[in-house]
Amino acid sequence: MINALYPGSFDPPTFGHLNIIERSHDLFTHLDIVIAVNKNKKYLFSAQERLDLMTKLVSKYNNVSVHLWDKLIVDYAQEHNANVLLRGIRNFTDFAYEFDLSQLNRGLNGNIETLFLPTVHEFSVLKSSSIKELASFGGDVSKMVPKIVDEALKRKYGFEKKL
Ligand code: ADP
Repeated sequence: MINALYPGSFDPPTFGHLNIIERSHDLFTHLDIVIAVNKNKKYLFSAQERLDLMTKLVSKYNNVSVHLWDKLIVDYAQEHNANVLLRGIRNFTDFAYEFDLSQLNRGLNGNIETLFLPTVHEFSVLKSSSIKELASFGGDVSKMVPKIVDEALKRKYGFEKKL
């Protein structure tokens, strides 16, 4: 039995995140998407909004569930019997950062293995922060995020279609 968790801000979810979930969920008994709620970070979407978006986006998978968490990720794993911490890798910058993080997490709890899944070529430049920046100027992000996220971004930045 391999229970995995996939933590992140998901502010908002992108096709890059969803591709990682699509390609990996079958490898595990259960996959928990863990949405970080960090009081020191500023998010565009509230915790509840991020939870609602991600829950809708993964509703087709019966071994995937979505949760909010405001403590250490390794504590989530410990409390929910997860033994794999999944991370997506876009490039060498991600790798360097994620490698260090995996060492820190191993120091906190040696029973949890970090697994890296490389992105697919077409999503390697997708980043929530850049997508927000583009959307804030009314740029077209429809190829980067699912329709419900595109609509939510338009509402946030006041670009929704007037009836
Ligand atoms: P970001 O704000 O950079 O998109 P998140 O904290 O929401 O990052 O990302 C959660 C996890 O998903 C991290 O492991 C991150 O590296 C990974 N990830 C983010 N975007 C992509 C992508 N386009 N392809 C693969 N993995 C990704």
